[in-house]
Amino acid sequence: MTTANRQVRLAQRPVGRPDDNTWNITSEPIPEPADGQFTVRIDYASLDPAMRGWLNDVRSYVPPVGIGEVMRAHAVGRVSSSKNADHPVGQLVSGSFGITEYAVSDGRDVVVVDETLAPAPTWLGALGFPGMTAYFGLLDVGRMKAGDTVLVSGAAGAVGSLVGQIAKLNGCRVVGIAGGPDKCGWLTGELGFDAAIDYKSESVGRALRKLAPDGIDIYFDNVGGEILNSALACLREGARVVLCGAISGYNATDPQPGPSRYLSLLVNRASMSGFIVTDYLDRFPEGMAAMSEWIRRGLVVTREQVAPGGIDAFASTLGMLFDGANTGKLVLNMHEQ
Ligand code: NDP
Repeated sequence: MTTANRQVRLAQRPVGRPDDNTWNITSEPIPEPADGQFTVRIDYASLDPAMRGWLNDVRSYVPPVGIGEVMRAHAVGRVSSSKNADHPVGQLVSGSFGITEYAVSDGRDVVVVDETLAPAPTWLGALGFPGMTAYFGLLDVGRMKAGDTVLVSGAAGAVGSLVGQIAKLNGCRVVGIAGGPDKCGWLTGELGFDAAIDYKSESVGRALRKLAPDGIDIYFDNVGGEILNSALACLREGARVVLCGAISGYNATDPQPGPSRYLSLLVNRASMSGFIVTDYLDRFPEGMAAMSEWIRRGLVVTREQVAPGGIDAFASTLGMLFDGANTGKLVLNMHEQ
């Protein structure tokens, strides 16, 4: 039986895209729980575009990861030893455990995972932060209503694929933007989107004028950049732009230009609102109940891409998000080599 616990730590802050110099892999004994604590053997770690932002030493919605600290990450694992009666050995839990093979917790902000509802990786996707981001971003920030035309970018990713499905379930017309014919085929096929635009092979602006000639009511933005500009040019009166993320600029080394089409907000009496999913923590039970019910009834397709390789594969797997190499929620299997 192994006694070593390996983890990924931040070695230095990246300029541009993280590379091998960004990370250190360290090893230490598996932590023993103190009274009230338990140790978790991590099975799956969530890889998120937001991780890139957490590496920058700037004021943000959470403090940056410090040099030498274990990389922050949500993860799912099983309790391997316990001095906490609420979390006995064998229980499956999710929490902000980091990129580490084992973690110690006192149970704060830990969720007990119900595998009868969905397998462990789904608790990092539809039943985790991406699911809640889609739910509250669309319904609360986007004030979605039946009959709306909803446009979503990053549409074949963790958040985007759920945004489109929730909008369809609520009687909206949905257009997704994603990279490549396979992703677009998945959106209009299995997921039931009304249309998809492959931004890598066609002009988003031209496609939108054809697919949404009367304009869009909600643009759920996961990518920013030129796609945001094209969406702004197609707003309908009273439209809501939900600013969820802007992955196209996360590795940029220069300040990114603002959207030149922003006056469309004025002309169309539209709004553009940013949000952070953790603003909704106290309403997570509502979002989790809805998502659980949709999953139970087979109304929402959940998809995770589980990458192998554990700790050693963290850096290369994280890069998949910026290459568009993932479909659905990207998860790292922490033990399968
Ligand atoms: P995804 O699963 O969508 O993975 C990222 C995807 O982004 C890639 O698969 C790729 O898909 C696309 N992409 C990468 N580079 C570009 C580019 N230059 N232009 C256009 N698309 C690109 O990640 P998530 O669903 O986890 O996150 C989606 C967004 O939501 C991110 O911006 C993230 O930061 C944000 N987010 C915000 C939260 C909040 O609280 N505000 C919470 C969680 C996520 P493709 O092949 O289509 O290019």
